[in-house]
Amino acid sequence: MTIWKNYFLAETVQEALELLAQSEGDACPIAGGTDLLLDLQQGRHPPLDTLVDLSQIPEMRQLEIRGGKLFIGAALPLNRLVESPLAQQHAPTLMDAARLIGGPQVRNTATLGGNVCHALPAADGTIALLSLNATALVARLEQRCEIPLGELFRGPGKSALDPRREILVGFNLPLREAGQASAFRRVMRPQGVAIAILNLAVWLQRAATRIADIRIAIGPAGPTPLRAVQTEAALRSQPYQPTLPPQALEALLSESRFRTSPHRATEAYRRAMAGVLLQETLEVAWQRTLDVENQDD
Ligand SMILES: Cc1cc2nc3c(=O)[nH]c(=O)nc-3n(C[C@H](O)[C@H](O)[C@H](O)COP(=O)(O)OP(=O)(O)OC[C@H]3O[C@@H](n4cnc5c(N)ncnc54)[C@H](O)[C@@H]3O)c2cc1C
Repeated sequence: MTIWKNYFLAETVQEALELLAQSEGDACPIAGGTDLLLDLQQGRHPPLDTLVDLSQIPEMRQLEIRGGKLFIGAALPLNRLVESPLAQQHAPTLMDAARLIGGPQVRNTATLGGNVCHALPAADGTIALLSLNATALVARLEQRCEIPLGELFRGPGKSALDPRREILVGFNLPLREAGQASAFRRVMRPQGVAIAILNLAVWLQRAATRIADIRIAIGPAGPTPLRAVQTEAALRSQPYQPTLPPQALEALLSESRFRTSPHRATEAYRRAMAGVLLQETLEVAWQRTLDVENQDD
């Protein structure tokens, strides 16, 4: 069976949008293809008339500081991302996550844009980006707009972007300031290579011995990637403690909607591990605020 008829390699975002709009049948962008090609081959995605390859569009492969933010192109291969000193400085949680995605062969082609647009609630890159308050730069034929990352998800595997009319060009991330750090951790089956049993990202701002501000993202804890805002509220302005305060654990378990998945883990296991993962990730982020301070001195 033919799973696509036409394959175009776009040179610009504008050309990609025109090719998608002009396709007579169903059309879809493709970046590294590590999710989409498997979905097409294994029948989870219906056959397509047209695939428009975004992977060689120069604008979408950039990584630079632009307008006081860190811009990461949606089509930058993950192996290039993990080598970037700029990303290491400003987005350590994203580096933790990107280094764990697949193996070297997958990271040679897989992209952050694909990780987000595939819209799984526990995609590692997505969870890290959510904790960093990233925004998505989205292009349509007539205009471009910046959208908070959390608004890109409609349900498991359902992106809010229209594949015929919209392309995710890249992400804008706030630059790291003094006293800020971030970290990502996941629980994975030992032989696992794709989606985590549980993953969690923390960004925090330290003020002396207190957590002045915090953002937490966790997956899979609902139909879409979850910002754990109640847990954040339970930890914000509190002194940092090496053991997780009971009100933070209570908030995390109350706002997370864990479920049993046949190939990965039970709801009970995820509930048991969520607090452990938060405590561990929090500890790494807190320690990094101290390490970074020492480096900055
Ligand atoms: C062996 C293996 C191991 C893996 N391990 C992990 C892992 O540990 N953690 C993890 O999170 N994931 C993992 N994955 C999943 C996958 O590699 C990632 O989600 C990857 O980042 C997807 O990027 P891609 O460029 O290959 O996406 P593609 O497959 O090219 O695209 C995915 C979807 O996004 C859309 N899309 C892509 N780019 C854009 C864009 N710029 N604008 C609009 N739509 C777009 C496509 O139309 C498609 O619907 C693994 C996959 C494999 C095969």
